[in-house]
Amino acid sequence: MSDVRNVIIIGSGPAGYTAALYTARASLKPLVFEGAVTAGGALMNTTEVENFPGFRDGIMGPDLMDNMRAQAERFGAELIPDDIVSVDLTGEIKTVTDSEGTVHQAKAVIVTTGSQHRKLGLPNEDALSGRGVSWCATCDGFFFKEQDIAVIGGGDTAMEEATFLSRFAKSVTIVHRRDSLRASKAMQERAFGDPKIKFIWDSEVADIQGDQKLSGLKLRNVKTGELSELPVTGLFIAIGHDPRTELFKGHLDLDEEGYLKVDAPSTRTNLAGVFAAGDVVDHTYRQAITAAGTGCSAALDAERFLAALA
Ligand code: FAD
Repeated sequence: MSDVRNVIIIGSGPAGYTAALYTARASLKPLVFEGAVTAGGALMNTTEVENFPGFRDGIMGPDLMDNMRAQAERFGAELIPDDIVSVDLTGEIKTVTDSEGTVHQAKAVIVTTGSQHRKLGLPNEDALSGRGVSWCATCDGFFFKEQDIAVIGGGDTAMEEATFLSRFAKSVTIVHRRDSLRASKAMQERAFGDPKIKFIWDSEVADIQGDQKLSGLKLRNVKTGELSELPVTGLFIAIGHDPRTELFKGHLDLDEEGYLKVDAPSTRTNLAGVFAAGDVVDHTYRQAITAAGTGCSAALDAERFLAALA
């Protein structure tokens, strides 16, 4: 069993590193578990990030995360590239256990484990991520000016992505595996009324085509089995996100979609001394800057909580 730390941070994306930076500069010597295979978070899997303020000419996702990591480390954050596999957060001293079975103790815990976008599960999907395949229109729509784009999905997110993308795109084709949409009436009407948006019903993506860049999709009609080609240079996959909250089920309150609940605008969870920030809480904005912003809030909330204990 280790000494009792002031604060342990679980997760290492923009939210985790920002919380680490702020708590380190407050001399709280945070211990950060970055995750074993995905240290650095979602932006490690992307290319150019053009909307993080302060980088006029954009920055590559992994470079941005390396900078955040180094900045937190510079002020004394201790970073461990490992997963936390179990937690006990109820008492005054919280414990978290790493993958080697070592138990770490702290008076405060900040959860920033992010969320995972659902994938289609097709061979080329990861290889062409950032090369035509995207999960975020707000992040990447600008790169697809005057191009033909496909959006996969039938819910509110898919409709929102499609109507946003139609501002830039030459055309937007929504591909949905059913013959009706799950999206709210208002969102549906906006999409149906948009002259640049068309629909392909009862169809799923059978193959994502392209070598270095996306060149098109092979679609399969789920009723007839018929295959067709859809030449597009942009593919936005909008079939949902899964917050990484498995570890906290039965410990922290979750909403109906599985995201951690906080007492907004604070980052307090239902347990005293446990705070949560970033995409593990947020199903609305899901941006690097909003994750960093709430990571900062969580650090300040934890700092005040610890000061009140003293
Ligand atoms: P994440 O970045 O998801 O980080 C969570 C971290 O927690 C991960 O490293 C994970 O390993 C770790 N973790 C999870 N469970 C555990 C555990 N049990 N123990 C230890 N560690 C754990 N946003 C923009 O603003 N601009 C963009 O251009 C942009 N492009 C994107 C491109 C792609 C391909 C993707 C997927 C997302 C993009 N986003 C972009 C969205 C942005 O990346 C996210 O909103 C942001 O990364 C969320 O930050 P976060 O810190 O909440 O979580």
